[in-house]
Amino acid sequence: MEFRLIDRIRERTAQERDDVPLGIGDDAALLAVPAGMQLAVAIDTMVEGVHFLPGTAPADIGWKVLAVNLSDLAAMGAAPAWALLALTLPVGIEAAARAAFVDGFAEGFAALAKPQQLALVGGDTTGGPLSISVAVHGFVPPGQALLRSGARPGDAVMVTGTLGDGAAGLQVMREDRGDSADPAIAHLLSRMRRPTPRLAAGLALRGRARACIDVSDGLLADLGHICECSGVGAELDAALLPRSPALVEVFGDLAARDFALAGGDDYELCFTLPMDQVDAVRAELDALGCGATRIGCIVEGSEVRVRGEDGAWLALASRGWDHFGA
Ligand code: ADP
Ligand code: MG
Repeated sequence: MEFRLIDRIRERTAQERDDVPLGIGDDAALLAVPAGMQLAVAIDTMVEGVHFLPGTAPADIGWKVLAVNLSDLAAMGAAPAWALLALTLPVGIEAAARAAFVDGFAEGFAALAKPQQLALVGGDTTGGPLSISVAVHGFVPPGQALLRSGARPGDAVMVTGTLGDGAAGLQVMREDRGDSADPAIAHLLSRMRRPTPRLAAGLALRGRARACIDVSDGLLADLGHICECSGVGAELDAALLPRSPALVEVFGDLAARDFALAGGDDYELCFTLPMDQVDAVRAELDALGCGATRIGCIVEGSEVRVRGEDGAWLALASRGWDHFGA
């Protein structure tokens, strides 16, 4: 049975690559890192009831668990190549239901993997509470990875795309407004269910961004990590935060600002770069389709502060999502 599930996954995710001499099917995969490249690796886990609600469409789970991993590679400026998948599936359900879950999951996973020529090269399949881990591997030339530690006072702070939609989509789900035909609601839900990892932007930022991180836990928390790792502070302008028309339409200006600052699940890139490169980089990311917005600057110190629309500093209650509630 286990092998039939593995075959279903393999069929739906098939991807030839010259750097995969041996993929799924043996005790281990054999992989060839291209000469002169460093390997960037990352892993993320999604647990039912913690990272997605029970009843979430399997295809959306497959997309998202890969998306959050690819977002980490994007934030390093790495080009994705390979993935491993550890699937823990409930034991108390019928084999047909398990197969249907796996089919949907693999379909969503492949919808994101195929355009990237990402190869699923192995994994593990076991029984227990529904939980999925994906590990991804990508390539980056030595010295060109985008680290959290390179921000300097005077740098511009930039973000791709718009902020807050992911967390707003989750709020819509929680409030049970998920079935609405309203296009603004549909936009928020799709941003939450199928985030787009900013892979092309990450590659474009190689050699340009001084520091970079993906926004998974919320802008304040994640920019806070850049500041900590770089030994700097940051000053943001709330008025500059890029928010989608859908977010503002559904939740209003004030809540939209809070979602943009502290909401998680955006998977945009937050990066810093010398002020004189802002226009060139913005034009480049516009051409890639995600765009980029300058939202503030890096300063001496260690704090992340946000100037409100009236010029006064905001009192910030929350820095974003904390997995252990501490
Ligand atoms: P082993 O007992 O040697 O670990 P498994 O039965 O776990 O073998 O796996 C057999 C093959 O199928 C291996 O190549 C493994 O990498 C692959 N595999 C198992 N589960 C998955 C999965 N969920 N996704 C992709 N490949 C998988
Ligand atoms: Mg195994």
